[in-house]
Amino acid sequence: MIETGDFEIDNRLVTAEQRDEDIAAEGSLRPTTLTEYIGQDKVKENLAIYIEAAKRREGALDHVLLYGPPGLGKTTLSAIIAREMGVNLRVTTGPAIERPGDLAAILTNLSPGDVLFIDEIHRLSRAVEEILYPALEDHAIDIIVGKGPAARSLRVDLPEFTLVGATTRAGQLSAPLRDRFGIVQRLELYTPEQLADIIRRSAQILDIPCTFDGAMELAKRSRGTPRIANRFLKRVRDFADVLGNGEITEDIARKSLDRLEVDHLGLDSNDRRMLEMIIKGYSGGPVGLETLASALGEEAVTLEDVCEPFLMQLGFLSRTPRGRCATALAYKHLGYPVPQAVTVDNGQLILPGTEEQN
Ligand code: ADP
Repeated sequence: MIETGDFEIDNRLVTAEQRDEDIAAEGSLRPTTLTEYIGQDKVKENLAIYIEAAKRREGALDHVLLYGPPGLGKTTLSAIIAREMGVNLRVTTGPAIERPGDLAAILTNLSPGDVLFIDEIHRLSRAVEEILYPALEDHAIDIIVGKGPAARSLRVDLPEFTLVGATTRAGQLSAPLRDRFGIVQRLELYTPEQLADIIRRSAQILDIPCTFDGAMELAKRSRGTPRIANRFLKRVRDFADVLGNGEITEDIARKSLDRLEVDHLGLDSNDRRMLEMIIKGYSGGPVGLETLASALGEEAVTLEDVCEPFLMQLGFLSRTPRGRCATALAYKHLGYPVPQAVTVDNGQLILPGTEEQN
């Protein structure tokens, strides 16, 4: 657990990052076909067309970049792509490929058509990226053989393959790398209805009795993220066994998550602290992300990746050119009186949360 001040991000029950407790069940809970994969309809429709076209051409699928917050199903989709294409999947992550030679070894071991999945692709080093460019474009890599004046470059041909890159931060990808993906798809946070479907599917696989309303109650608090929804299901099962007859009902779901300090919209104490800091410490904002992060004793990227997407989806936080603002909805949710108006530089009076988003 990394603890900075009172702000514990890495050990939060509502973190979308993978925790040890997720790993065991995630394998069995992952959908294996596009039809089983719930939600993300636009992404699924597009991928289905691209996959069908590639199969008809008997070629490899174009390189795919999937981006969006953690826990939304990027790894799952890459496995589905490989399965639907009928090819092997190789899985690695950006930070695991330390040297160009590591990537060369992976690439030269691929079979024709294979899918290579690189998670956190924005964390590839520059030197490794350089190897990737000709591999993606010409299906070849240039290897330097020998040292000093005797060194020469040797071109090694690779089989046609598909790179599926996943990132939570598409903006951090270098432009040359981004340009080499023919298919770029953004994954969105899921609606409570879609999450309830995911929970009911998982409950069936794990043999956990769960009512429709129970699933919906868990879904509403899952921050739009399947990984969190599945985690809640497993946690609340324990409460259902001890407090009830083993079935997850709406009442059991509500009581359990209240005890776990996840409120009815999915906010935990850290989200509330962040909003309270903006409201009480900075009169509702705008406050710069860096300032806010240091006031909370947290890193700016963590706030940006973990708290903000969800708070913005709820309409509790707005990002303006001058910083973050708490909206009228956030004031209401936390039980503070909503200020009538705030003044901005040019003298205009505007309500918090109605400012232009950037
Ligand atoms: P990411 O790679 O984006 O962090 P994962 O693909 O590892 O996310 O998904 C996390 C978990 O959520 C998986 O175990 C999977 O069971 C579940 N999941 C994700 N997307 C879906 C979906 N569309 N339908 C059903 N389950 C899903």
